[in-house]
Amino acid sequence: MKARPQIKCGNHSHHEKRKLGRVWLSFLDTHTIYFLTLLGNLIMLLMLAIFAKTTGFEGLMRYYIYGKLLQTIGAALGVFRWLIPVDLSIILGNSLVYIGGALEVYCIVYVDKLPLTAVTKRWLQVVAGITVGFTLLYLAGANTGTRVFVSAMILAGYSLAAAAGLFLSKNTTNLRKIVAVFFVLLAASQVVRALDALPRGANYPLFAASSLQTMSFISIYMHMLISTMAYLLISREVIDIKLKKAATRDYLTGIYNRMQFLQLSEKLLSLMIRQQKPTTIFMIDFDHFKVINDTYGHDTGDRVLIHFSREMQSIIRHEDLFGRYGGEEFIIFAPNTTAESALAMGCKIKAALELSLAKDATIPGYTVSIGAATMVPGALADMNTLIMRADQALLHAKRSGRNRIVQFAADGDK
Ligand code: GH3
Ligand code: MG
Ligand code: MG
Repeated sequence: MKARPQIKCGNHSHHEKRKLGRVWLSFLDTHTIYFLTLLGNLIMLLMLAIFAKTTGFEGLMRYYIYGKLLQTIGAALGVFRWLIPVDLSIILGNSLVYIGGALEVYCIVYVDKLPLTAVTKRWLQVVAGITVGFTLLYLAGANTGTRVFVSAMILAGYSLAAAAGLFLSKNTTNLRKIVAVFFVLLAASQVVRALDALPRGANYPLFAASSLQTMSFISIYMHMLISTMAYLLISREVIDIKLKKAATRDYLTGIYNRMQFLQLSEKLLSLMIRQQKPTTIFMIDFDHFKVINDTYGHDTGDRVLIHFSREMQSIIRHEDLFGRYGGEEFIIFAPNTTAESALAMGCKIKAALELSLAKDATIPGYTVSIGAATMVPGALADMNTLIMRADQALLHAKRSGRNRIVQFAADGDK
């Protein structure tokens, strides 16, 4: 007859808790997790390669795939040690993991930028140092515990580098910050593994089933999922931002394109009408721009347009909308602006341009003509009407000698 198992509720002694802790993850087998990680990596790699091929290897995708491939081969060498001599398998396996890991981190941090030569050189030096360092350590006869300690610390360093790169990138996003937190957690689990391995020295069992050991294998598995998903999501986010910019901004000057300007203006105009505020539209056209192009070349013409956009952005108020209406024609939507202050603003623009051109010898002198149309408080007008009026005033400015501001008057002419 079997003894009835004793069931105790609550009040576990300290010793019992430790025992429970030790068997906590025992239903998971480390070899299986490791194998699933390799398999997962291979599947991810295949999917990535297919995706990259159909989308034309955007950004650093190619290098990310190489990095993952090297790591997978390296990790495979770590377990299939009968493939090649054991020394070679350990040295080569670890080296591939370090080189591939560095590639992976590099791609996650820089995503869309092509390898930057100065930065790349620094990375190559670090990776070469790490790889050579580990090889020498192994050849010097370091025991398993020491090797796992060094290796885990290196991988923790990689994860922290990724986290720092994501967090400190110039245009960091919430997605990047969240991924950075994940990488910090992955780094922490590697540090725990390192500290667990070091004191055990030659007796450290690579695949033994302790809770800690199993957890670090799970974290390696998580790394596979997190890294690939993060790379894909971040590169998608980069593309999204680029597409959005391309759809709403003028390629040359970076200011709003016509469509975006009109969309934003319509909204602001209805607000101004509802609040019974005066509003002014400025149409600005370069004087004899053809001559600038013909005299100095199209490139200089482009630089003039960029110069003008920059100057204007420093003159207009924060709430003003500024866009490129077409070719060398620009448009400003100035909410809460009376005819009087419109005239003042026109004069300010002229003066600022003159001052800036006098200081900057690299830009040929130029002038602009400005047509302004103001909607008085309480009046009803749509964007089309306002633009038409500003255009009419602009025509008048051109006809009456250019380099001036003309305001649309309700009585029609001028
Ligand atoms: P006006 O004083 O009557 O406005 O004379 P204009 O020469 O400025 O007028 P027009 O509209 O005939 O010429 C505009 C020129 O602007 C023609 C076009 O080639 C040039 N242009 C338009 N877009 C760009 C651009 O993006 N870059 C450069 N460099 N030139 C441009
Ligand atoms: Mg012109
Ligand atoms: Mg024009």
